[in-house]
Amino acid sequence: MELTKRQEAILEIVKKEGPITGEQIAERLKLTRATLRADMAILTMAGLLEARPRVGYYYSGRTPNKLIAEKLHRIKVGEVKSVPVVVSERCSVYDAVVTMFIEDVGTLIVVREGGILEGVVSRKDLLKTTLGGHNIHQLPVGVVMTRMPNVVTVGPEESVWAAAKKLITHEVDALPVVRPVEGGDPRKDLEVIGRFTKTNVVRLFVELGEGS
Ligand code: ADP
Repeated sequence: MELTKRQEAILEIVKKEGPITGEQIAERLKLTRATLRADMAILTMAGLLEARPRVGYYYSGRTPNKLIAEKLHRIKVGEVKSVPVVVSERCSVYDAVVTMFIEDVGTLIVVREGGILEGVVSRKDLLKTTLGGHNIHQLPVGVVMTRMPNVVTVGPEESVWAAAKKLITHEVDALPVVRPVEGGDPRKDLEVIGRFTKTNVVRLFVELGEGS
């Protein structure tokens, strides 16, 4: 957030002299308390200052950047995830390409009965098969997908920051959002409940940029 000159001045005074009352801040700036009221409200609501009754204002130690970081750690994958687009391992490469176009996605999640994660297939996986001279009507996606346990996943309770970090670290566009199946092997039996993609990150970025 962009602070005005006066808000910067208030912040400096509180950093140096806090806890300090509104009246004292007004005195330092040679202004009335009423004039400062809106600025004090903005600084407090933004989390830069904290107010304690009978004590006064003090600096929270949170910079605007830290506040953005806190927010990105607070928002959960479950709040922003998209609907997963899934196919079976037996689906042909041809049908997978058609599904990508119809559903307008770049990554398909491959599942077995019960929506259990088997693998993921990306645009490049499908393009690669077209170079091999295969019959794409016959070739199943199971042959070209990235298979478990090599699929990087994310849980609905993980932060969007942690998820975005996985996208960058593993150089992939999408992560299946999963939860362990009750009574199953927590490394292998993962139920697909969503899809977290670079688009989710960009959308959040735009929303944060709008100040919402
Ligand atoms: P694209 O192929 O369109 O560039 P990606 O960068 O996501 O898309 O995929 C690159 C490779 O990583 C592909 O071989 C794909 O199967 C694999 N891949 C995609 N998503 C994941 C994931 N979540 N975990 C592991 N591998 C993945």
